[in-house]
Amino acid sequence: MTDRVVVGGALCRAGRLLAARRSAPPELAGRWELPGGKAEPGESAPDALVRELREELGVHTEPVERIPGEWPLRPGLVLHVWTARLLAGEPEPLEDHDELRWLAPDELASVDWLDQDRPAVAEIGRRLRAA
Ligand code: C5P
Repeated sequence: MTDRVVVGGALCRAGRLLAARRSAPPELAGRWELPGGKAEPGESAPDALVRELREELGVHTEPVERIPGEWPLRPGLVLHVWTARLLAGEPEPLEDHDELRWLAPDELASVDWLDQDRPAVAEIGRRLRAA
């Protein structure tokens, strides 16, 4: 059986990456992640990302490119990360999060990222520094 995909979105603006602090479940609350969520059966990862970012942040986005790599979450579930472009709206923590921050590359280590998000966040940091 193929793994179910959780897709995280790397939204960048003015050289900063959007980080979202989880409000639930209790064991993850307070940790930071790239906003996103599980793809539904039959739903592509980019489509899931657009839907999740609309639900969670109230924004309209366009997936751009997948960050190479795949990070296991638990058996049967893997994290993929896509960069995404903000097309409309200002992100707000509507669902699953209680705080958002736009982090500059030298601020990325200032929040407690979920372990599985860290490699992709590091890659985004490298890209932002090189830009
Ligand atoms: O957001 P949702 O509850 O659908 O996420 C499903 C699982 O994916 C959770 O266990 C969450 O910790 C994980 N996740 C993650 N990194 C993200 C987004 C979600 O590890 N950027």
